[in-house]
Amino acid sequence: MKQAVAYLEPFLEADRTAAKVKGKVLLATVKGDVHDIGKNIVGVVLRCNNYDIIDLGVMVPCEKILATAQQERVDIIGLSGLITPSLEEMAYVAKEMQRQLLQLPLLIGGATTSRAHTALKIEPHYTNATIHVVDASRAVGVVANLLNDNVRDRYVNEVKKEYVQLRERHKNKKSENPMISLAVARNNRFKIDWHNYTAIKPIFLGVRAFNDYPLASLVDFIDWTPFFHTWELSARYPAIFEDAVVGESAKQLFRDAEAMLKKIIAERWLRANAVIGFFPANSVDDDIEIYADESRQQVITTLHMLRQQTRKPQDKANMCLADFVAPKSTGIADYIGGFAVTAGIDIDKRIQLFEKEHDDYSVIMLKALADRLAEGFTEHMHSRVRREFWPYAVNEHWNNEDLIAEKYQGIRPAPGYPACPDHTEKPALFQLLNVTELTSICLTENFAMLPASSVSGFYFSHPDSYYFGVGKIAEDQLLDYSKRKNMDLAIMKRWLAPQLY
Ligand code: SAH
Repeated sequence: MKQAVAYLEPFLEADRTAAKVKGKVLLATVKGDVHDIGKNIVGVVLRCNNYDIIDLGVMVPCEKILATAQQERVDIIGLSGLITPSLEEMAYVAKEMQRQLLQLPLLIGGATTSRAHTALKIEPHYTNATIHVVDASRAVGVVANLLNDNVRDRYVNEVKKEYVQLRERHKNKKSENPMISLAVARNNRFKIDWHNYTAIKPIFLGVRAFNDYPLASLVDFIDWTPFFHTWELSARYPAIFEDAVVGESAKQLFRDAEAMLKKIIAERWLRANAVIGFFPANSVDDDIEIYADESRQQVITTLHMLRQQTRKPQDKANMCLADFVAPKSTGIADYIGGFAVTAGIDIDKRIQLFEKEHDDYSVIMLKALADRLAEGFTEHMHSRVRREFWPYAVNEHWNNEDLIAEKYQGIRPAPGYPACPDHTEKPALFQLLNVTELTSICLTENFAMLPASSVSGFYFSHPDSYYFGVGKIAEDQLLDYSKRKNMDLAIMKRWLAPQLY
């Protein structure tokens, strides 16, 4: 099953008529989330193994999941999600299953989910089997165990025991690893010698849109390793082609990908839009003030950042993205940039055509390629920014490998990712750049971007800036942060749940 799912597809229908259906599984990407490649692969793999699949698609509210499960008398519910707010949504579905006394096993999967999170935050809410499925190749084994009367109870008890242990371990770890106060963390901020620094000015201030960007110019910027990960072939590109186990599958998959990519470009299956913007900015502690103009009198937006709060070794700072922008008190005229790009405009039309033909393989392939083009577009735009629009690295030289290894000056952190994990900062970015009007990218109620093949974030230019993860934060920062954002504490707590547990 680790081989590319592609191979299984042609045999799907034949197999299904030959053998008896073994059970019914409902799959859904939860409310507010739009990512479904992993879920689709699970669906194909299970179908190939003679399970009936009811796939409710993306952004599915809890009520619909539970009502369908009952109407269709499914045997198992599988939830999927990619962004962190989906973790809370999954916990909500588990609570509702408990409240409605459902007797079905619940499977949890998707990029931000984990065994630990399932054990700590989902399983305690639901007394029936609640199991994290790490990838599609494991789904068949888990489902088979759950539907086999002879092994089910033993299997479920084993998982339950394992999750109890995970919770115990987490409790102990927490008491071992005390946090420092926000004030102490701020004192240990990342120090930049601002007085010997000259900020470079972008060539324009405000926003600039790029519509229907030539897709062909993005291909060289694609990072192919994550493409293979999407298909559950985990090795680095291009070495993957030499891999004894998956090499041949990888080659076949890559040939198919290249063929479809050619069609995407020649027949204009997808359109790519972007907006970038640059603004006068200064930091004030953990916030970044963005000003209307160079007089820096009027704040048009404040970006709120989180700071690392675990105790650090002597020479390490408690990082916060605001540390990379000159503090207001220095009087230095610094800048920040923002971007939003998509390569997924029009994707639905083509997906519908493939779906009509029951061509699951092409559906997954197209979505995977659109994601690659969006990330490639992000890389391409960033390289143009450094050389043309915010020319702080005009003489930079690189090849595709250097870009993938991030061997260049400056970073482009994306809200929802480790350095700025709070998704609720996305609306501020979207408003600042007028993203929805200029690119057609929208935000769902949980701040996922639609089309799914989109990336947005901030540009930082300082030579010392780098990616890090905020990690866990303490209650004092939660309180301070919710005040700075003027957001109700209980609501803030829900959004920052992954940083708190
Ligand atoms: N080259 C990879 C990049 C994946 S990361 C690919 O093609 O898939 C996706 C985006 O997340 C990056 O483009 C960057 O904008 C952002 N990012 C990466 N690491 C981050 C971090 N630690 N904190 C915040 N954003 C990050």
